[in-house]
Amino acid sequence: MSKNNNFKATWTYADAPESTDHIQIKKQYELFIDGRFVKPIKGKYFDTINPSNQEKIASVAEATSEDVDVAVKAANKAFKSWSKLSGKERGKYIYRIARLIQERAREFAVIETLDGGKPIRESRDIDIPLAANHFFYYAGWADKLEYAFPNRKPKPIGVAGQIIPWNFPLLMAAWKIAPALATGNTVVLKPAETTPLTALKLAEIIKESGLPKGVVNIITGAGETGASIVNHPNVDKIAFTGSTGVGKFIQKAIAGTSKKVTLELGGKGANIIFEDAAIDQAVEGIVNAIFFNQGHVCCAGSRLFVQESVANLVIEKLKRRLETLIIGNPLDKNTDIGAINSTKQLKTINKYIKIGLDEGCEIYQPECNLPKNGNWCPPTLFLNVSQSHRIVQEEIFGPVLTVQTFRTIDEVIEKANNTPYGLSAGVWTQKGAKIFNLTQKLKAGIIWANTFNKFDPASPFGGYKESGFGREGGLHGLKSYVKFDD
Ligand code: NAP
Ligand code: MG
Repeated sequence: MSKNNNFKATWTYADAPESTDHIQIKKQYELFIDGRFVKPIKGKYFDTINPSNQEKIASVAEATSEDVDVAVKAANKAFKSWSKLSGKERGKYIYRIARLIQERAREFAVIETLDGGKPIRESRDIDIPLAANHFFYYAGWADKLEYAFPNRKPKPIGVAGQIIPWNFPLLMAAWKIAPALATGNTVVLKPAETTPLTALKLAEIIKESGLPKGVVNIITGAGETGASIVNHPNVDKIAFTGSTGVGKFIQKAIAGTSKKVTLELGGKGANIIFEDAAIDQAVEGIVNAIFFNQGHVCCAGSRLFVQESVANLVIEKLKRRLETLIIGNPLDKNTDIGAINSTKQLKTINKYIKIGLDEGCEIYQPECNLPKNGNWCPPTLFLNVSQSHRIVQEEIFGPVLTVQTFRTIDEVIEKANNTPYGLSAGVWTQKGAKIFNLTQKLKAGIIWANTFNKFDPASPFGGYKESGFGREGGLHGLKSYVKFDD
């Protein structure tokens, strides 16, 4: 580890913690089925933990296959009338949900940060506003489906089983629920085991919105609960965001059935810096690409490629920037990097750091005082790596960046595409022609130019190869929730 302390600022920010006294969190949360909060049939509960201090926040119901069955029945029953409601009426409910999220945005942001460990600045400025925007955006489509699919008659599919990960808990719920409702489907959604609270808060809002009972059911539990949703015979569509491993399991499980599926899986995004890029902006872009949300981002720019002529300059500036990142209390408004989401994920990240060291890669971590309790990982660079290193090929899902250099465009395209994944990429150059050339040739579902990790509800998101298939967001996102007779 580098002990280079030359870049340390001589002053620090005063603490600026977000207050939590206005937040109401119950001791125990039940399942949201058929418009009511109900106890799990087997009476089992699990703890949800604050990863920044390991303290228990609440007990959460664990749904077994029996509860899944009740939820799917409720969704099936609700489908009969919900699917016949006019688009205009459906839209009204979705707008209402969007507005209620906005009204309670501060509460949502604090709970997201408490339960998942992400910096309050991100949950406040990105996760929650974007979640509301997804509901607004798809509310607008509800009565315009005939324009989305001209000369065709889109019909809802039925009950959508939706399974989401822990990195953007409320946002992923919004990505899944909003287009399903806009197109007339009903929903059984399962949030991740480590971050169930904002989905349960969303259930409160859904109840308050007056959405007909059974249209959205939110059930909590672990992987087994997810598997019960996947295997339920009356679920018509599976929408899954998570790891490639579980995605493969799901695809096997539904083989031979008529279930539709979309899979948003892992990634190992290439972030490519050319010598003619605006270097200081690019350095900010590198930081945002990999350290946003502690690197728990499927489309993170986790592989950096810098053109050889500017490599020393970029790496020097990047190291200096790393020294100034603030790591610690996620509720502090100054914090740049919060807590790693779970002890399990921290173990995975540390395993990869060890693999990198064992494979002879050069590591750089800034000096930082990590809090004593909780799950923490400093921002980490691996220099002098090559394509064959495991840390370059496998998704780490943490604040770890591999740094490689290149000389020519052809070389960097070859290297960037040489991975089993194909979710995201970034290109930094002043030349438009270079951007167009690369975006044609990079095998990635999302490519940013001179920016990174920018999201918009109107813009489709999804991958190639082992990053999955299907698109969420935008007009494309409606397609996975409709069927046609023709
Ligand atoms: P994960 O283990 O695949 O879990 C995702 C969800 O699936 C969780 O709700 C999980 O429940 C559930 N699950 C686990 N085993 C299951 C099974 N056998 N059947 C059905 N559901 C099951 O992934 P993760 O570790 O939580 O999330 C990180 C991964 O998600 C990364 O690989 C990341 O790249 C990917 N991701 C992709 C996107 C995208 O849009 N492409 C976005 C975000 C994340 P529990 O959590 O309760 O175990
Ligand atoms: Mg938690």
